[in-house]
Amino acid sequence: MSDGVWAAPGRVNLIGEHTDYNDGFVMPFALPHTTVATVARRDDGVLRLHSADVAGDPVELRVDDLAPAARSGDWTDYPAGVVWALRWGGLAVGGADIHYESTVPTGAGLSSSAAIEVVTALALNDLYALGMDSRDIARMCRRAENVYVGAPTGIMDQMASACCAWGHALHLDTRDLAMRQIPFDLTAHGLELLVVDTRVKHAHSEGAYGKRRAGCEAGAAALGVDALRDVPFDGLDDALARLDDPEVRALVRHIVTENHRVERVIAHLEAGEVRAIGPVLTEGHASLRDDFRVSCPELDLVVDTALTAGALGARMTGGGFGGSAIVLVESSSEHLVTKAVQEAFAARTLDEPRVFTAVPSAGARRVS
Ligand code: ADP
Ligand code: MG
Repeated sequence: MSDGVWAAPGRVNLIGEHTDYNDGFVMPFALPHTTVATVARRDDGVLRLHSADVAGDPVELRVDDLAPAARSGDWTDYPAGVVWALRWGGLAVGGADIHYESTVPTGAGLSSSAAIEVVTALALNDLYALGMDSRDIARMCRRAENVYVGAPTGIMDQMASACCAWGHALHLDTRDLAMRQIPFDLTAHGLELLVVDTRVKHAHSEGAYGKRRAGCEAGAAALGVDALRDVPFDGLDDALARLDDPEVRALVRHIVTENHRVERVIAHLEAGEVRAIGPVLTEGHASLRDDFRVSCPELDLVVDTALTAGALGARMTGGGFGGSAIVLVESSSEHLVTKAVQEAFAARTLDEPRVFTAVPSAGARRVS
C-alpha cells in the first residue's frame, strides 16, 4: 500500500555554466525524464529504500541514526541525506517506504542526483505536512548533497528539478534565488534541442572542480568582491588588468562573460529570436573549453561535428570532463546532425553516444 506517487525531473542547463557557485545566473530547463517515487508513510522511524535501477534488496535505515558520518557511500545516501537534512532543519519527519524508478540517465550530467533528492523531499513534505515551498525543498536537497553525500555542488540542479515549468527555461539568480520563467518553446519555431550524452566520465573531474572553485574564490578576493557575480561585464577589462595570475584571469573571464551570455540568451528569447541563441551557446562552449578548461575531447567532438553538420549552436552542459552536450538544430536537420555525431564517434571507436530531443518539461509534482 502506498500513500502516493511523486515525480521529479532531471535537467539540462541551457546557459550559465559554473556560475552557480559564483552567485551568478543559470538557465536550466526540466527534462521529460523523471525519477518517480512511490511512497508510504510509516510511523516506526524506519526509512526503507529501494530502487528499480539498482540491483539488490531494499535497505532499511533508522531515521534517528542518520548522520553524515554514518553515510554508506552508496546511492541510499541521496535519499537518506534528504531525510537527515529535513530533520537537521527542525522538521518532524519520520519513516517511509520509498520505491524509486527513474528514466533520468545517471552520471550523465543530467542531474539524476537532484531528481532523486527532490522527489524524496517533495513526497515527505506532503506526507508529513512540512509546509516547505519549492525553494525550501531545493535548499534542503542541496544540503543533503553537500553535507551528507559530500559533493560540493551549487544549488542549480535542485532548483531546476523543483521549480522548472513546462515550455519554459528557468532564469535563476543563484545569489538570492530570485527566478523567472522564460518561454522556451522550440517546436513552435521549428527547432529542436538535442542532448548528446557522450557516456564518458573522466576520473579527474572532482579535483578539477575543486580547483576551479578555489580559483574563482581567489579571483573574487583579489578583486575585492564577494563573488565574481559582482564583476560587471563592462568592467571586465579593468578587472583582468588587476589580476596577475593568468589561470585566475581566465576563470574570471569565463564567469563574467558567461553571466553576460545568460542575459543575451534571455534577451533573444524574449524578442522571439530563438535561432539567435545558437551562436551564444557556441561562444559559451569556447569559453568553457579555452578559459575554464572543463571540456574534453569527446565533448569538443560533439560540438565541432554538430556545427559542421549545420547545427545552429552547441555546447557542453553540466560540470564537464564528460557527460552531455546540447545542440540546437532546425527540426529538418535533426537527423543529419545526429548521424554526423554518431559517425564521428564510431570513426574514433568511441562508444555510441545517447542522443535525444529535450522538450522543456514540468518540475517536480505529485502524480497521484
Ligand atoms: P548526475 O546527477 O549527473 O546523474 P551524480 O553523480 O551527481 O550524477 O549522481 C548520480 C548518482 O545518484 C548515482 O550514482 C546514484 O548513486 C544516485 N541516483 C540517481 N538516481 C538514482 C536512482 N533512480 N536510483 C538509485 N540511485 C540513483
Ligand atoms: Mg548530480
